[in-house]
Amino acid sequence: MKFYSTNNKEHKVSLKEAVIKGLAPDQGLYMPERIPTLPADFIDQLPERSFQEIGYEVIGAIFGEDLSKEQIKELVDHTLAFDAPLVKVEEEVYTLELFHGPTLAFKDFGARFCSKLMSLLVKDEKVRVLVATSGDTGSAVANGFYKVPGVEVIILYPSGKVSTLQEKQFTTLGENITALEVDGVFDDCQRMVKQAFLDKDLNESMLLTSANSINIARWIPQCLYYFYAYSRLPKGHEKVVFSVPSGNFGNIAAGMLAERMGLPIETFVAATNVNKIVPDFLKGVPFRPRPSLQTISNSMDVGNPSNFYRLLDLYGDESKLKEMVKGFFFDDATTREAMATVKAAAGYLMDPHGAVAYLGLKAYMEEHPGYTGVFLETAHPGKFGDVVEAVHQEKVTLPERLAAFLDGQKKTKLMANDYQEFKTYLRSKK
Ligand SMILES: *Cc1c(COP(=O)(O)O)cnc(C)c1O
Repeated sequence: MKFYSTNNKEHKVSLKEAVIKGLAPDQGLYMPERIPTLPADFIDQLPERSFQEIGYEVIGAIFGEDLSKEQIKELVDHTLAFDAPLVKVEEEVYTLELFHGPTLAFKDFGARFCSKLMSLLVKDEKVRVLVATSGDTGSAVANGFYKVPGVEVIILYPSGKVSTLQEKQFTTLGENITALEVDGVFDDCQRMVKQAFLDKDLNESMLLTSANSINIARWIPQCLYYFYAYSRLPKGHEKVVFSVPSGNFGNIAAGMLAERMGLPIETFVAATNVNKIVPDFLKGVPFRPRPSLQTISNSMDVGNPSNFYRLLDLYGDESKLKEMVKGFFFDDATTREAMATVKAAAGYLMDPHGAVAYLGLKAYMEEHPGYTGVFLETAHPGKFGDVVEAVHQEKVTLPERLAAFLDGQKKTKLMANDYQEFKTYLRSKK
């Protein structure tokens, strides 16, 4: 399978190039040149299959020309190492819990798939993944790439400007994960990483990659849990709507990929906080990136949703996209209120991101009876303890595996805010 750039369909590259490059040289996003259709009996038999079996088939349909059956199994088993349970919240309302991975957020799926795929595609060389982080990306990438052979991760983060829990999640692992504690702010870390990617001389002597969030290897595997969620709905449901809490719109775009491959999803709800660029677009306002606004669902504080062009590309034209996807947005007060109401009425504790998705789902279902709805819970409520505790007036316990990070010993290398020092360090690792 070849992958083209959303900016130029004639520009096609191999799987390996798309994964190592991440972003196309013309700044477009890579897309598979063909979207395979899965056989109807595969869809009919979804309920009888395990998460992994679903994964082998779906990933096989996309990557089968480039990887052997054994490699696909290895890749899927590594990615789906934890469950994604579908939990009933109300009549006809279900939530798909995507937070049972190592960093308690759905980004674990993409990070694990990406790391494994890189190690399978690059045989004799070593790949170095450079990441600048202000917190969450570092932990997801570090944990996703931990102990993956042939891949080394170097994380740059601003010293003293990351929460203790976040810092511990990527500085205590060791092995193939190195944390550089930079005497500067996040933008300095970002600048040093960007400079390294543009440094010809450095790139000739080592394979550098960014594993950033628009990489197909982080995007595509997210389609798997839509198949799985659908398969676990009780028999006899009719039309199905998925509501996705959206920031960069990679997650919802992966749901649309599943739909295009044959999964009978009737409608998608794009649920956002007040960063409502896409809901506005869906109502007819021209797409116009804006500076992001700060909210309690801060992983969705995105003013320029980077996967927007994937949405357009998947449905070919705006009118079809607007038919398939409905947008809703909610402010923080409404989000807090939903967290409290659902806890009181159904005993279910939502994190702020999941709550935005719940609100979008309810808004849609009220206008459109006869649907069964699924909203995605993208983070464990304990990750947003401050907000959740303020709403519920009670303490949320951090799951054991996250709390365990706090006992780990922080190991970092101090680094001046200076590109030459960073480069010298990278060279010394050869
Ligand atoms: C990243 C993130 C989102 C947004 O996902 P996109 O794919 O960027 O739309 C939602 N919730 C949580 C908890 C996240 O970390």
